[in-house]
Amino acid sequence: MKKIIKNGTIVTAADTFFGDVLIDDGIVVMIGVDLESEGAEIVDASGCYVFPGGIDPHTHLDMPFGGTVTADDFETGTIAAAYGGTTTVIDFCLTNKGKPLADAVAHWHAKAKDKAVVDYGFHLMVSEVNDDVLRELPLMIEKEGITSLKVFMAYKNVFQADDGTLYRTLLLAKEHGALVMVHAENGDVIDYLVAKALEEGNTDPIHHALTRPPELEGEATGRAAELTGMADSQLYVVHVTCAEAVNKIAEARRRGLKVYGETCPQYLTLDVSYLEKPDFEGAKYVWSPPLREKSHQQALWDALWNGQLQTIGSDQCSFNFKGQKELGLGDFSKIPNGGPTIEDRFTLLYSEGVEKGRISINKFVDIVSTSSAKLFGLFPQKGTIAIGSDADIVIFDPKVKRTISAETHHMNVDYNAFEGMEVVGEPVSVLVRGEFVIRDKAFVGRAGGGRYLHRKRFGQAEQAAVKKLPIGGAR
Ligand SMILES: [Zn+2]
Repeated sequence: MKKIIKNGTIVTAADTFFGDVLIDDGIVVMIGVDLESEGAEIVDASGCYVFPGGIDPHTHLDMPFGGTVTADDFETGTIAAAYGGTTTVIDFCLTNKGKPLADAVAHWHAKAKDKAVVDYGFHLMVSEVNDDVLRELPLMIEKEGITSLKVFMAYKNVFQADDGTLYRTLLLAKEHGALVMVHAENGDVIDYLVAKALEEGNTDPIHHALTRPPELEGEATGRAAELTGMADSQLYVVHVTCAEAVNKIAEARRRGLKVYGETCPQYLTLDVSYLEKPDFEGAKYVWSPPLREKSHQQALWDALWNGQLQTIGSDQCSFNFKGQKELGLGDFSKIPNGGPTIEDRFTLLYSEGVEKGRISINKFVDIVSTSSAKLFGLFPQKGTIAIGSDADIVIFDPKVKRTISAETHHMNVDYNAFEGMEVVGEPVSVLVRGEFVIRDKAFVGRAGGGRYLHRKRFGQAEQAAVKKLPIGGAR
């Protein structure tokens, strides 16, 4: 039952120190030096960092899209997540217009329940606001602990909601303590540009990027931020890719608006030139928003470092090249959007960020775990190593040099978007609530071992932490 993780360098969003972590019944109960406890299993972390488990706030597992279904489900996806150092995922529950939200949530529970190997929560997609939704949404927030709502400003005639729906969702979120997440691209203009490109015979993957220019991401981001200010609500912009969008978020934050932003490993490391790979291989790199010119990468790193962007999500949404991405041969608009990123998110941020001197190691923990825990109502249960927190822990060897490859990854997909990239560092062992899921680089977890997370309302996670101060902490 008890474990002591010994002799590691413990790193949180605030501190870096040498010490031991005593875990009892899945919870961190003591942090110190030379800890001993009768009957405790000793786990040696010499030469390793001891990080809080990664939190991936943006995954699409077992999700239907474009006439097919993602290659990774909650089992393969969360096993890959665990290998990569992620112990919590928050997945997007899709809803259907005119159908009860409760049915959609029950459907997503069924997908995850007996499969997830790490802990998980759900965001809920909102595509319309009517009397039924107004009645049901507060129940989803209260009873299901789904305290984040997703609105799409793009994917016309599929997921896209109009501005009125976004505004009403922001008002509702304000009233009930939820965070509104937006996919910020101008879907109406994109729809026109895509039709025009196809009409002119421009069918290759690169035209996916050319029909979704950064101006349309910046415009939608600014529009969503402005509506957030009017509603005095809170907004989280998912997958920010470009300087145009970063600038709109920075401007909103300067005005004191509660606007937050996420970027993804692919936007930090890959660029639009990948879409020009021959033999349709560019389809592997079709994300929405698309990969940008390389110059945008610096804007994203700067924004992570100075706090304009707070988190990194994988936007895991894997489709095989063979048979799935190929649906878009001869028509780029039919290429399923998304890629396999859940496994490499954590190490890529460490390797490209900390190792290359772009962010500090504490900032790394903040971006990869702590900020998401705070924004999505999981802190301090998740997102840090502190007394009373879940023992979600990554023992990370920062000396390992390796090359990312589909041949060695654990995702259920036939390519890796970061193929051939050399990285420094690797999770050696990963614990979820004190139990090994990965031990010495081998999976030892169990399908269904992950627990559903009933999340706190927006802004309440940190208040709860203050109320539960240990004895002697409160005055
Ligand atoms: Zn997504």
